[in-house]
Amino acid sequence: MAPIAVDVIVLGAGIVGVSAALALQAKGRSVALVDRLGEAAGETSFGNTGIIQSEAVLPYLFPRDPRELALAAINRNPDAHVRYRALPSIAPALWRYFRASTDAGKRETARAMASLIGAAIGEHAKLAEAANATQLLRRGGWIKVWRSQRGKQSVLGEIRELEAYGVDPKLLDRATLRALEPNLGLAALGGAHFPEPLTTPDPQALTRAYAALFVERGGRMEIGDALTLQSSGSGWTVATQPGAIAARHVVIALGPWSDRLARAFGLRLPFFVKRGYHMHYAPREGAGLTRPVLDSEKGYVVAPTARGLRLTTGAEFARIDDPPSSAHLDRLEPFARKMFPLGERKDAAPWMGRRPCLPDMRPVIGPFPGRPGLWLDFGHHHLGLTLGPVSGKLLAEMMCGEAPLVDPAPFRADRFS
Ligand SMILES: Cc1cc2nc3c(=O)[nH]c(=O)nc-3n(C[C@H](O)[C@H](O)[C@H](O)COP(=O)(O)OP(=O)(O)OC[C@H]3O[C@@H](n4cnc5c(N)ncnc54)[C@H](O)[C@@H]3O)c2cc1C
Repeated sequence: MAPIAVDVIVLGAGIVGVSAALALQAKGRSVALVDRLGEAAGETSFGNTGIIQSEAVLPYLFPRDPRELALAAINRNPDAHVRYRALPSIAPALWRYFRASTDAGKRETARAMASLIGAAIGEHAKLAEAANATQLLRRGGWIKVWRSQRGKQSVLGEIRELEAYGVDPKLLDRATLRALEPNLGLAALGGAHFPEPLTTPDPQALTRAYAALFVERGGRMEIGDALTLQSSGSGWTVATQPGAIAARHVVIALGPWSDRLARAFGLRLPFFVKRGYHMHYAPREGAGLTRPVLDSEKGYVVAPTARGLRLTTGAEFARIDDPPSSAHLDRLEPFARKMFPLGERKDAAPWMGRRPCLPDMRPVIGPFPGRPGLWLDFGHHHLGLTLGPVSGKLLAEMMCGEAPLVDPAPFRADRFS
């Protein structure tokens, strides 16, 4: 049987792949979106915190302060959890992350990310409007709270750095914080309110609404294994349930699994994952939250979602396929119970996702070095929901030979070679 022919195959139907497929389709390309699952957003794009973080220009750095490092190493830093058995295999990538986590590296990444992030809300708003999904985007921003004077000073320091990028949060004392979020516990002394970011109560439903728009506009969504990708003649083919699909161009948007396919075609990146968990809670005594709140000194967020109050954890350093563990969530939950109106757990087990990361905390968006027709769109770490649509637009512009909306150089794959 002759393969089904399209212009572009996008591999991976998380927020990044769905957004790239829509952006290419908007440029008149026929697109097949291929995922091993039957529906979009079945993995990392399902369970995140749901913030479209228009303020998040500063990258998360690997700790360099010896005290912080020592606490992290013995799993006493609440932001992070280390699976010791994984260390031998993840150490080389973490070493690259440590080395990239300098002030100069931070400034370089912040400059690059500011350009992309600046367009993130606008691109989401356009897609949500077209997908009839504006009810899944909420205004009101999110709040970062502190528990101590030390925590306050740390948030204020970050705010001073953000000024250069036009980010201007409102400072809240205890009374104004409580006026916004009356159900927060007394452990929260004050906070910074970032009013501009949008939030979604259901990141999966939002991504699925975008995927439905793609199909409505004539896109094909097929079940298939990206690892069957082969070069054939002047193009590429991939095996899917209805049969082989062929195209001149292929986009690898497999999130945390992208590195596997990239390696199969000879590209070795210092890729790693930061795993994260969520758990839903019933609100206690009918109390709730109106927007996500980050406990800045303990490193977790509680967000009001369609399924209940969703607690999301920071980074677990482990191998991509290590079995899930509830250790990090169990460590954070007692702190969260003192700060938030959390009732019963609603999920039988914590959900786990994997943030796809590169050491400089920038995604890879652009051509696959030395493989004509192969393109990369992955590594969106803590910000894939935020950056999916704008990354898709940038990639589509590059693939169609148009002027890109931002300088793509900081996102090239060969920056690591
Ligand atoms: C706890 C947590 C909280 C977060 N909070 C936020 C937030 O508030 N804001 C934000 O912007 N970001 C947030 N993130 C990050 C964000 O969720 C990710 O960056 C984003 O979901 C990555 O999207 P993706 O499309 O690249 O990957 P994924 O959503 O993982 O999609 C990859 C797809 O590839 C498919 N796939 C894998 N292997 C194959 C194969 N062999 N063949 C075919 N298909 C395959 C998978 O089935 C999957 O559908 C958070 C992440 C976590 C873990």
